[in-house]
Amino acid sequence: MRPLPRSLDPLPDETLTGFILRLAHRAGTTPGEITIRTGLAPQDRPGLPTRLPLGSLHHLNDKHLTAFASATHLTPCEVTGLLLAPLGERYGPLNSALTPRRTPARMIYDNPWVLTRSTRYCPPCLAGDGDAIQDNHGGAWQRLWRLPVVFLCLRHQRLLQHECPRCGTPVHSVRTANANAIARLSDDTLHPGQCRFPARPTPQHQPDAACATDLTRLDPPSTEPDTVTMTVLLQLQQQFVDLLTTGGPETAMSAGAPVPAAHYFADLRATVAMIFRTWPVAREYASTPCLATALDTEYTSRIAQAEPLLNTPGKKKTSKPYTAPPRDSLATGAVLDVASQLLRAADPHEARTRLAPLVQRLRDVDRALSTWLRRPAWISPPLRQSVMDPPSVSRPRFRTSRDSILTTQPM
Ligand SMILES: [Zn+2]
Ligand SMILES: [Zn+2]
Repeated sequence: MRPLPRSLDPLPDETLTGFILRLAHRAGTTPGEITIRTGLAPQDRPGLPTRLPLGSLHHLNDKHLTAFASATHLTPCEVTGLLLAPLGERYGPLNSALTPRRTPARMIYDNPWVLTRSTRYCPPCLAGDGDAIQDNHGGAWQRLWRLPVVFLCLRHQRLLQHECPRCGTPVHSVRTANANAIARLSDDTLHPGQCRFPARPTPQHQPDAACATDLTRLDPPSTEPDTVTMTVLLQLQQQFVDLLTTGGPETAMSAGAPVPAAHYFADLRATVAMIFRTWPVAREYASTPCLATALDTEYTSRIAQAEPLLNTPGKKKTSKPYTAPPRDSLATGAVLDVASQLLRAADPHEARTRLAPLVQRLRDVDRALSTWLRRPAWISPPLRQSVMDPPSVSRPRFRTSRDSILTTQPM
C-alpha cells in the first residue's frame, strides 16, 4: 500500500469512520477514495461501487490493519485505537466471554448494545476544540458515542443527540443489509460534521442530494431535564466513563460483590431488559420524578413495538423490544439509573431482596427471557447468584431439558 502524501493524527477516542471522514475532507477527496487507497474497500468486485463493510468500525484483520497503518502513516497500535473491539476489555456487550460470538467480526451482529448503524453525538464536541486542524475538519466522532451506556457529554454537561435536528434521521444512519459504514462514500462535498442522509423527496432524474445539515451548528432548543436530574445523570455517566477508560477502576459493585468492569456492563444490560419487561415493578428506584416519567413513556413505546410481533407467524421474538437500550439519551440515562440502583446492593442478601420482585414477575410473564438473561455467559457470578430461583420454586427435574433448549434460543 503506497502511503498517502498527507495524513492526520487521530484525535482522542476517534472512530475509524470519523478519521476517514476527516482525512477525506483534508485531502479534498471522497471517503470512498480513502478506503481504496488505504486497502479497506474490498477490491474483489471490479466495476461495483466501493464499499466499506460495517464490521470495519469494530475490527480489522491483520492485513487490513497493516495496510491502513502504512498508508496513513499511523502505527498499528494507533489504528487499533480507532476500533471498537478494544473497548470490549471493559465493556461486556463487546466482550466475547460475556457476549459469545463465533468470530470477532460477528460481535456487532444483532447486538443492540453497540451502535453500529447510527451514532449519538455532542454538537460542541463535533465542532472541535478550537485548534486549526479541528477548525477545518471538525472534532472527533467519538468511539464512546457508539456505546449506548454513554448518553451525555461530561465536558459540555449536556445530553447527547441521536438524530439530525432537521431531517430527524439517526445520525450516520445505515439501513441496508449489505451496509456501508459510511453513507455517501462517493460524495466529496460534505464536511465531516454534516448530516449524510439523503434529503427527501428527491426530484426525479436528479442525483439525490444529502440533507447536509451542519450538525455542529444546528443545535435544537434545549430539552435538558431539571437540575437535580442532571446531577444524578452526570454522576452516573462519570462513573460509567471512568469504568470504560483504560486505567480507570478495575471493578464495580454488582449485586453485593465487586466484579470486573466488563461484567458490570453486562449486568446492566441484563438488568435493563428485566426492568423494561417487568415495568413498573422497579419504578420506585428511579432517582427523580423526571426519570420515572421518561421510563413510563419509553415503556409505552416498547409495548407498541411488541404488540405486532404477537400476531406474527413463526418465531415471535416478542421479548426483543424489551432487551435493547433506548435510543433517546434521557430514557437511556433513566433506565441505567434504575439498573445501577438495583445492582448497588451492600451484600448478596440485599441484592437478592432488591431483585426478587423483578425476577418473580419476569418468570411469570416471560419464562424464555428469564432463562436466557440468566445464562452464565451473559452476567456476572454475583448477579447470577442473586437472580437464581430460590430452592422452594426450583423447577422439577423433568423440565431441565426444556430449560436448556430455551437457553440456546434467544427470545
Ligand atoms: Zn461535548
Ligand atoms: Zn439530516
